[in-house]
Amino acid sequence: MSHNFQDPIPVILPPAMLGMLGGGQLGRFFVIAAHEMGYKVTVLDPDANSPAGKIADVHICAAFDDKSALLKLSNTCEAISTEFENVPADSLSFLAETKPVRPGAYSVAIAQHRVSEKNFLKHAGLPVAPFEVINQVEDLPEDGSDIYPAILKVARFGYDGKGQARVKNQHEAQAAFAQFEREECVLEKMLKLDYEVSVVLARDVHGNVATYPTSENSHLNGILDISIAPARGRDAISHQAQKLAILVAEKLSYIGVMGVEFFVCDGELLVNEIAPRPHNSGHYTIDACVTNQFEQQVRAMTGLPLGSARQHSSAVMVNLLGDIWPEDDKAAPQWQLALTNAQLKMHLYGKQQARPGRKMGHFTVINVSRDEAIKQAMQARADLNIGN
Ligand code: ADP
Ligand code: MG
Repeated sequence: MSHNFQDPIPVILPPAMLGMLGGGQLGRFFVIAAHEMGYKVTVLDPDANSPAGKIADVHICAAFDDKSALLKLSNTCEAISTEFENVPADSLSFLAETKPVRPGAYSVAIAQHRVSEKNFLKHAGLPVAPFEVINQVEDLPEDGSDIYPAILKVARFGYDGKGQARVKNQHEAQAAFAQFEREECVLEKMLKLDYEVSVVLARDVHGNVATYPTSENSHLNGILDISIAPARGRDAISHQAQKLAILVAEKLSYIGVMGVEFFVCDGELLVNEIAPRPHNSGHYTIDACVTNQFEQQVRAMTGLPLGSARQHSSAVMVNLLGDIWPEDDKAAPQWQLALTNAQLKMHLYGKQQARPGRKMGHFTVINVSRDEAIKQAMQARADLNIGN
């Protein structure tokens, strides 16, 4: 993207008020990063107890399509970003009439719809898993099709494995489609994955990109469990994943932080999905990189230059889901043992209610040695009874 110096893109400096759509843990880390830099933050989220809303300067407690709430946001904030990918693209377009919205509605709209996402990736020449678009029950391929076994995924509003069903044949696919109330879906071939990786990057208003080291991810019940950074496996794969992620950002003229998830299948990379926001697999950047992904989000949306994405320690991040909270009372898990490790950084999101599958926090173990970080993280994971 070229830049005309007669008409410079204004830089928004502290103590300006920044707007954040979404009040989850990603928004909370954004608020922390913005505060550290001297900015103020207004969070829009319908939940009165949202993790980010509770620590923001201003919390507008309203729906994401509430016109008066959106007006208040655009009237009081100098730039607006999002942490919640299911924010209505119309709300972003509305805000963009008066204030910079980064990333823009176009990128978010593509990422929040699995069909537009896959079509975009295909047109950009990026490899994706074989899939069919399913709008009606007749679209489901018959038995004998190469696509089975497959995963039926709703096109909109799916996350953390929700809105997905694994199906072996047309009959099971029909049942799953009915269960999803015949919402538009994609039917994706179930692949035998070697492993999964992701790349988080930031792209600034001038088109400069800072790319974090590729992380290697393992999932439990469709939810991210462990991220190891830098990824093990072939360096060529990690490098290629970074190149493909940059290509995605450039094709979208993206401004902000983005996560791109990949499958490694028969030694080849396939793009799984795009997240138009900081990514769970990038949480390791908080403790292991010069500039974390949330500070990059602040920098990109305010027009500042990006910070260094250099990783100074190997890192292993482990998610803490509500499953490890005792069922019978509201007591938190016993953190003491894990906290005896001086290289373990604990992050809890302040969510009041623990539910199975709900992301309550994470920890990251850093070390000069990746193998040692893995060993210690696995020890802490076992101490907390994760995965049992
Ligand atoms: P979400 O939006 O919930 O993250 P994903 O499409 O990324 O949904 O799926 C979640 C996880 O399920 C993936 O990270 C992967 O582990 C597994 N998965 C999804 N699609 C496939 C597939 N086609 N083949 C094999 N595993 C898959
Ligand atoms: Mg995913």
